[in-house]
Amino acid sequence: EAMFKSGFLSEVYNLRPISETHPKIRTRFPPEPNGFLHIGHSKAIAINFGFAKYHGGECILRFDDTNPEGEEQVYYDAIRDIVKWLGFEPVRETHASDIFDKLYALSEELIKKDGAYVCHCTQDEVKAQRGQTEGGQRGGQRYACKHRTRPIEESLTEFRAMRDGKYKAGEAALRMKQDLESDNPQMWDLFAWRIPESGKKHLRAPSYCMFPTYDMAHGLTDSHEGITHSLCTQEFEMSRVSYEWLNDKLDVYRPMQREYGRLNITGTVLSKRKIIKLVKEGHVRDWDDPRLYTLIALRRRGVPPGAILNFVNELGVTKNVSNVQMHRFDQSVRQFLETTVPRLMVVLEPLKVVIDDIADDHVEMCEVPFGKDPSFGTHTVPFTKTVYIERSDFREVDSADYFRLAPGKTVGLLKVPYPITATTFEKDAVGNVTVVHAKYEKPAEGETAKKPKSFIHWVGESPAHNSPTRAEVRAFNPLFKSDDPSAHPEGFLADINPNSENIYADAMIETGFWEISKSAPWPKSAAEDDVEKNKHSIRFQGMRTAYYAVDKESTSEKVVLNQIVTLKDTQGK
Ligand code: ATP
Ligand code: MG
Ligand code: MG
Repeated sequence: EAMFKSGFLSEVYNLRPISETHPKIRTRFPPEPNGFLHIGHSKAIAINFGFAKYHGGECILRFDDTNPEGEEQVYYDAIRDIVKWLGFEPVRETHASDIFDKLYALSEELIKKDGAYVCHCTQDEVKAQRGQTEGGQRGGQRYACKHRTRPIEESLTEFRAMRDGKYKAGEAALRMKQDLESDNPQMWDLFAWRIPESGKKHLRAPSYCMFPTYDMAHGLTDSHEGITHSLCTQEFEMSRVSYEWLNDKLDVYRPMQREYGRLNITGTVLSKRKIIKLVKEGHVRDWDDPRLYTLIALRRRGVPPGAILNFVNELGVTKNVSNVQMHRFDQSVRQFLETTVPRLMVVLEPLKVVIDDIADDHVEMCEVPFGKDPSFGTHTVPFTKTVYIERSDFREVDSADYFRLAPGKTVGLLKVPYPITATTFEKDAVGNVTVVHAKYEKPAEGETAKKPKSFIHWVGESPAHNSPTRAEVRAFNPLFKSDDPSAHPEGFLADINPNSENIYADAMIETGFWEISKSAPWPKSAAEDDVEKNKHSIRFQGMRTAYYAVDKESTSEKVVLNQIVTLKDTQGK
């Protein structure tokens, strides 16, 4: 909530007392259902829902579905779902398309007020009228098109003809009659209704063959819904004038539009067109691949919604664009996880250790806390003759500055009463160590126990205790090599990092995993059900490794973990 107490939004709030007709703060989050939301949208969501909530108001989820071209039912559903996941509840759901009939009627009224006309000019002609010369430069002489002064009755007739399907794309459009003398391009007779190229039917308004533009629909829908504060991104600042012009011209209630800076994450791509390429060419699994920064990808990776909101809050709401490096986002997620998730032992690349002086059937239950904070509670893990440690925690040749396991060296196994000392090891034909032999340093009566220099994580072998659980662990690195993939001279695909994913196919998880996996047992297949959807919320810190979450592909037969973030910031230095 801190973000609303100072800065831009409190300024907005104080700018104008809420009108008597609209005493309650009402905002809207207005995505177009033509793609999955990304991290940048979380700022828009946090601002619109957060601002309303902070002031005891309400926020509407409005689907800004004014162009059937890329709009799909899956996007309506995914957007609704992810807003809810972020923890916000819209007071209601609306659609721009709900009021197409009203927008149509208002447009006729606008024509009658001499505020709009039907224009038949080509795109190039319109550009020229707006003073844009051949090369695309601005600054040429502006002039009105010949349709601007046509009789009102004629525009009305033509507008009805447009509605009735008499024209094809590009043959006719409704334009606002604004102010060509203005310095603001948003006043140069904006398009109000267009006929799209493709004849694709609108999902919710199938009878329409022409559609209102953003400029036509947005402010009037805000007005219709009684929005008090229409908060949008900075690139709409120039549009504020046309927003106000249209509402005033039609003499309807005028909400207050104010602008904030976009949030961009550097080192990735957010644009729909680019992500489609990544998916189609198989560089990522899908739109929710954990290496992407769509919200469904962050969710799948295991990033908690609270961490995203914290991140956005920390950045604050400014008028400037925030270009934030990925590792700063990760750092914010890491901080959030540090105090909120339990700890477990996961061995990524297991190396078998046989403790020769322990009996074959020896099982000693060791108590391990789930976290530093006692409120996480504890659980027990079986310590047995065979344990698995991280391959990287063993060295064939010891050295003085090495503190983990090596022949003759003593190391502690986390929470096991006494340390172990490696004695010998075995190798396979190609020289890989296959097993390490060790002895348990349980002191004899009257002797003091050895104190190891370091402790390592491990997993015991006791099928009766469901230990170990085999898992595939997916560790991620940035998907791109540079901070600005789109700037690569050969295109962003040429910047792809070939090592963006490391798979540990034979990882092992300790038995406490099943205690935190509240939804276990899982279904045998990764079917769509509640359990499936909630898997990403099973998160933990792998001691000495990284933070992990259960991937949606997990089944009761095979657990798949995604690395959420590493334990330490390695990119920030
Ligand atoms: P994109 O081109 O990234 O898909 P958009 O503007 O087409 O963005 P919409 O679906 O219209 O996306 O977005 C819904 C709301 O989210 C709008 O109010 C938009 O301004 C806001 N929004 C979109 N991208 C960002 C961003 N990067 N940072 C903050 N707000 C954003
Ligand atoms: Mg979009
Ligand atoms: Mg948009």
